[in-house]
Amino acid sequence: MKKQLKSKKYSVFEAPSLHDAKMRMKHDTNYLEYKLDDKYKNLGLHKTYMVKTYGCQGNIADSEKIKGIMEDMGYTEVFKEEESDVLFFNTCAIRENAENRIYGELGRLHPLKVNNPSMIIALCGCMPQEEVTVEKIKEKYPQVDIVFGTHNIYQIPKYLYETYDNKHRVVEVYSYEGDIVEGIPLKRDSKTKAWVDIMYGCDEFCTYCIVPYTRGRERSRNEKDIIKEVEDLVKKGYIEVTLLGQNVNAYGKDFKDKKYGFANLLEDLAKTGIPRIRYTTSHPRDLDTETMDVMAKYDNIMPHLHLPVQSCSNEILNKMNRKYTKEMYLEKVEYLRKVIPNISLTTDLIVAFPNESEEDFEETLDLVRKAKFEGAYTFIYSKRKGTPAATYDNQIDPFTAKRRLLTLNKLINDGFAYGNKRFENEVVEVLVEGYSENKEHLLCGYTKNNKLVNFEGSEELIGKLVNVKIIKAFTWHLRGELVD
Ligand code: SAM
Ligand code: SF4
Repeated sequence: MKKQLKSKKYSVFEAPSLHDAKMRMKHDTNYLEYKLDDKYKNLGLHKTYMVKTYGCQGNIADSEKIKGIMEDMGYTEVFKEEESDVLFFNTCAIRENAENRIYGELGRLHPLKVNNPSMIIALCGCMPQEEVTVEKIKEKYPQVDIVFGTHNIYQIPKYLYETYDNKHRVVEVYSYEGDIVEGIPLKRDSKTKAWVDIMYGCDEFCTYCIVPYTRGRERSRNEKDIIKEVEDLVKKGYIEVTLLGQNVNAYGKDFKDKKYGFANLLEDLAKTGIPRIRYTTSHPRDLDTETMDVMAKYDNIMPHLHLPVQSCSNEILNKMNRKYTKEMYLEKVEYLRKVIPNISLTTDLIVAFPNESEEDFEETLDLVRKAKFEGAYTFIYSKRKGTPAATYDNQIDPFTAKRRLLTLNKLINDGFAYGNKRFENEVVEVLVEGYSENKEHLLCGYTKNNKLVNFEGSEELIGKLVNVKIIKAFTWHLRGELVD
């Protein structure tokens, strides 16, 4: 007979609420300071943990916090599920198939947990911020011991303590607008490239998107804390930072006592001397000329911009609540290309949003040609419970959606190839990341324009900036030769 897990009681400290997540009270942001309570200090001695990360850069950065907190308690990181005493799933809720994948993973772990009941499985990130997820986990996934959301990573020590001490399963998910917690120790994955959160949450409420409900209100970190973090990274020898936020261009809009926006921050960070600065993600409506001018002024702000357009039909953009038109988008692109002629532009696109006609889709193809994107993440619209678009009539059938995605991808791939081709015979600066996954004898790294380059070279170049002459462009990468 199939072995089953013993049922354990729940301590539901707080469950998610879509109603609360939709509220925007506009109260002042609470700035908290992380401190590890003495009683949790050696909780992890002789114990191991592993973090599995899904979704966007925001989740990657959150996982570095989870790892930092775990090591603060004495846990050691491992990279095999069966070797871990605590296993985190830091999840993404942006599309239905991302969620289904997680349920599949949890199902697969059931036997592991049956054989090792002392192992702790924690589900965190965006999925638990949805009411339906928490209900489903409680009903069908007894292998999960701890459920927490995006706002309470700093409470991990408390949840582990509760689980060990009371033998309860713990659920705590806050659905309020969110605080800012400074001082969380980070275990960064790289010694040369760092993610730096500059703000959290999103107030845009695009009608298809779950993020404003899972990540709370837009709230900006104080510029002094961000500048200090980047200065420390410079001292430690880091070469590249990527500034993170769901809409970085809205940085500072929530400050009540000062006028200090994204362009100011970008300029102050450029002055720290960090060799490379990138940022993601931008909202086309909020991208201002001041920001583009600062990008043009400093050599250490990279000539690459990810500027998600989503659709290029004005009617669909309006239904998506994107608050710009195709013309406004093209105007910004034109200005960007005027001040930074060499810039590479990439984007996000959604096909088959409810009501998208063939003409609307043709508009998208038209803008893709005009904007000369050098890459894009393309998605089929996914219905997200609780978002306005989930209730819209005329959802598009899967066959049409797939056909549109394939047509769009063909055009996007042409853009990828064009974006690479323009660097043939040029000498470019590459930040060397390691050995190439597919061609293990070759080193790989990224150019200022964010192009992947493979070339021959020795191990000691890893983590350094080198000059490489591009000898051949392929669709997905460049092949180069090291230049003295
Ligand atoms: N804040 C960023 C922005 O506005 O571009 C990124 C948000 S999200 C993490 C990344 C991308 O997922 C979006 O740009 C959008 O293209 C896509 N996305 C979001 N919700 C979606 C949905 N319901 N169906 C399909 N794609 C979606
Ligand atoms: Fe989602 Fe729109 Fe916010 Fe991006 S800007 S996170 S797509 S609501």
